[in-house]
Amino acid sequence: MTDCPECGGRVDLPETVEVGEIVDCNSCGSELEVVDDDPVTLDAAPDLEEDWGE
Ligand SMILES: [Zn+2]
Repeated sequence: MTDCPECGGRVDLPETVEVGEIVDCNSCGSELEVVDDDPVTLDAAPDLEEDWGE
């Protein structure tokens, strides 16, 4: 468990995460990139292409 850099909420992590993995913040919905795994550090994922209505 670690903190969301966007909203400060707690983010539940899978048992194992890999650097570069993207996880979602359950509090604010931000996509967060794992930038370090010991300890797990999250950073806001770069904005990818918007989904224009799937
Ligand atoms: Zn958040």
